[in-house]
Amino acid sequence: MIISVASGKGGTGKTTVAVNLALTLEGNLPVQLLDCDVEEPNAHLFLNPVFETTEKVTLPVPVVDESRCNSCGRCGEVCAFHAIIVLGGRVITFPELCHGCGGCSRFCTTGAISEEAKEIGLIESGHSGEIAFIQGKMNIGTPLAPPVIRAVKDKIIDHGTNGVVIIDAPPGTSCPVVASVKDSDFCILVTEPTPFGLNDLTLAIGMVRELGIPFGVVINRSGLGNEDLVGYCEREEIPILLEIPFDRRYAACYARGGRLIEEFPELKAAFRGLWRKIHALARTGEPDQALL
Ligand code: SF4
Ligand code: SF4
Repeated sequence: MIISVASGKGGTGKTTVAVNLALTLEGNLPVQLLDCDVEEPNAHLFLNPVFETTEKVTLPVPVVDESRCNSCGRCGEVCAFHAIIVLGGRVITFPELCHGCGGCSRFCTTGAISEEAKEIGLIESGHSGEIAFIQGKMNIGTPLAPPVIRAVKDKIIDHGTNGVVIIDAPPGTSCPVVASVKDSDFCILVTEPTPFGLNDLTLAIGMVRELGIPFGVVINRSGLGNEDLVGYCEREEIPILLEIPFDRRYAACYARGGRLIEEFPELKAAFRGLWRKIHALARTGEPDQALL
């Protein structure tokens, strides 16, 4: 089962939920945690994994052999990203804008374009206890998160009905989030009970509905804001899977990279309840497995 954890905006506790759900399942099921927040991966701060492998993520970008180019301009016409243009009879490339689609080389009229690999990020794989941990890191200055996210997701191990993959998605609702969340069996949307939280949650709900993924809401810092969020979920018949109360001890634990479920037994029980609800709502239709 693939469970993604998303939020309409940053700072809502998305990583807290992803990490503590993984820790709850550890030892009961094979668990993989994928940190797809490739601009700012931070799940490792809570899990302290031992990394065993590091791999480069590359994109094929065009290289032009000027001696074979007749300045026909076809490459510039096919590139939707303006990463290659013909100006004053010369072809100019902008590798930082290139999405590596291969269109320009395919349609080049003289075969003047070849491709070379440009490094855009890294994938680090390892373990934290029994949790298989993978994180992606985009190179600074690279605007393309989705290819790095896809490379992280290529590391998903199919354990059939027995394993759980937890994806910590980037914040927001843009392309990197869609790349992270799509193909999930269930999506947890983490939010907080404030007007801003409700506004961002509605955007995130629009995204998962568009993708056709079953979802539910986790309210973090419950009790801090107002009841509008709960009322909204009730009206929309959106399941509230878990409410994590606002508690300064929890905030302090998070701030020093601590593990909530290990320090606060009441939260361990709460995360077990979260898993049971997800299991019941996910689209896998799997038979009961290790319900905690
Ligand atoms: S590979 Fe695709 S995105 Fe890159 S320059 Fe060529 S057409 Fe544009
Ligand atoms: S399509 Fe090929 S031949 Fe035409 S301008 Fe581009 S690189 Fe030159």
